[in-house]
Amino acid sequence: MMLQNKVAVVTGGTRGIGLAIVEKYLEHGARVILFGSRRETVDKALAYLKEKNPAWKPEGMCPNLNSPSELKDAFASIQSNYGALDILVNNAGISQSDKLYDYKPEDFEKIMDLNVLSVLYASQAAASIMKEQGGGVIINTSSMVSLYGQPSGVGYPASKFAVNGITKSLARELGKDHIRVNAVAPGVTETDMVRALPDAVIQPLIATIPLGRVGTPEDVANAFLFLASDMASYVSGEILSVDGAART
Ligand code: NAD
Repeated sequence: MMLQNKVAVVTGGTRGIGLAIVEKYLEHGARVILFGSRRETVDKALAYLKEKNPAWKPEGMCPNLNSPSELKDAFASIQSNYGALDILVNNAGISQSDKLYDYKPEDFEKIMDLNVLSVLYASQAAASIMKEQGGGVIINTSSMVSLYGQPSGVGYPASKFAVNGITKSLARELGKDHIRVNAVAPGVTETDMVRALPDAVIQPLIATIPLGRVGTPEDVANAFLFLASDMASYVSGEILSVDGAART
């Protein structure tokens, strides 16, 4: 029980890596509010979690992550209902892989809006509450492409480089308020999207990973557990790779 009674918000918590983080936090005693983009997907995730363990009491909300005022209201209501906000995981994200010659400006903006601006807005709203209560933890989902780029879809790695910049800068700015800020940089992780890839695509990919397999959402969630817990009490400003050493 590494997070007993901690209050945690996980954005993009309805599936994939976010849902694995929610489960891991619940297993470790946290009270979790998951954010999703639509009520139906939020309710589906809550039903899955409650079936898995009826003792868990997760809740769900779907504020617009690009609205600072909606986020402020959502966090204020969480603080008033739960008495605290200890952990914020900024995990919601989208990717896009068009070549530069076909790249649409609106797609670049869409990626920046969700992957970067929402991280800023949610961190701003949460940090005000954390400062007032004497501290907290913010963890962002970055990506291994934030270190080395990728050969197409320039907006996605650009957004994750920005996430690393926000992480390192806020760690320095918010340290005095006892708020730790870190990021996890997953490699290829077996979410629905990756599971749907044919063997002909996935096998050559696996061949480039020194640990010889893609990551599981649980591999990634374990890093989020460590960083959220007191085991990481002196870790801030870190970008923790969880990628089987596939750093090329
Ligand atoms: P996913 O598509 O399975 O889940 C994305 C989550 O983001 C969902 O919960 C969805 O509801 C939410 N979301 C999407 N658009 C939204 C919007 N406009 N407003 C609010 N929420 C929205 O993806 P995933 O693979 O689990 O990715 C989660 C995070 O991990 C992302 O930040 C992604 O960039 C990062 N990541 C994934 C991989 C991978 O291989 N899967 C690797 C590195 C990093």
